Amino acid sequence: MRSFVHTASPSRVLFGAGTVRQVAAEADRLGASRVLLLSSPPLEKYAARLRDVLGGLLVAEFDGAAMHTPVEVTERALDVVRDHRVDCLVAIGGGSTTGLAKALAVRTDLPQVIVPTTYAGSEVTPVLGETEDGRKVTRSSPAILPETVVYDVDLTLGLPATMSITSGVNALAHAVEALYSPDADPVTDAMALEAVAAIARSLPAVHDDPSDAEARAELLKAAWLAGMCLGAVGMGLHHKLCHTLGGTFGLPHAETHTVVLPHAMAYNAPAAADAMERIARALGVPDAPTGVFDLVRRVGGPTSLRDLGMAEGDLDRAAELAASQPYPNPRELSRDGIADLLRDAWEGRRPT
Ligand code: NAD
Repeated sequence: MRSFVHTASPSRVLFGAGTVRQVAAEADRLGASRVLLLSSPPLEKYAARLRDVLGGLLVAEFDGAAMHTPVEVTERALDVVRDHRVDCLVAIGGGSTTGLAKALAVRTDLPQVIVPTTYAGSEVTPVLGETEDGRKVTRSSPAILPETVVYDVDLTLGLPATMSITSGVNALAHAVEALYSPDADPVTDAMALEAVAAIARSLPAVHDDPSDAEARAELLKAAWLAGMCLGAVGMGLHHKLCHTLGGTFGLPHAETHTVVLPHAMAYNAPAAADAMERIARALGVPDAPTGVFDLVRRVGGPTSLRDLGMAEGDLDRAAELAASQPYPNPRELSRDGIADLLRDAWEGRRPT
């Protein structure tokens, strides 16, 4: 018998095409009358759509969301919240804009409506990672979890192909690590396996034709399922490594996940044989770590940390940091083992 504890996230999710039109009704449902719209400059086209949709509910805008949620950006946005007596946050964008909404919500308890435009999955987790003085610190709280998520497939059609691929692999990483998490339960297993299979099908289709709405919908649904896994169970070595590489060495989030995932899987494989077998079946390949590496290569994703700009001289320190704090992981963490993993990822070797 398998004992387990499952905690479901109480968020409301709308999924479809053209659903952005429902954002005003969703804000209204949360009792909003003074909305702050959060975005970033590359998303101006979508912010304009929301401006129209929100009409008189909109009282202020802030388009300065930045990667890894710097605290100084949050403080500037907090001034806008106070100056305009905002009573609801609407955020459009990827994990960075969602992170800003969460950082404001945890400080003000304001309700959030998130409109995701990438596959990061942050919109369905109660987790916030913030950076201050070059360190990324993560916390979790019910006030961080967005009340409402509006997935609109149309808004993902323009996500550049490279970002679509790396963000899709970021989602795959949530599902993979959920399957060997000590907190895994039958619900997260089912969501994670469906996400892995859907990503394996849709990622090549999106790569071949980024305007394929059906493939985009399948990938976005998988990103939601994978995000639910991320929100429900603890992650392991892969996420900790990417957190260190992003927070301390400034490497880009989704790209780093894409390079590291096959290597973190290869490291954990000897201690997570059952999960790896299930992942391989869902991917439709004989071996999970090499299957993920080959999928990334097939869709033209990055395969080496060197190409992402990581200095060779930083590898030792990254291994030291990643091994310095104990956390649950299928295979025991050794500094030398992690150093070898990072070396393989830096050089872009296919795992064996
Ligand atoms: P991002 O939000 O930084 O977006 C990357 C770039 O793509 C940005 O310039 C953005 O403006 C642009 N962009 C986004 N959507 C677009 C679209 N549809 N069309 C054109 N351009 C678009 O990247 P991300 O990978 O989505 O998020 C990364 C951040 O999210 C990191 O800070 C990471 O730590 C955080 N994150 C947090 C969680 C969590 O649960 N707390 C989960 C995943 C990611």
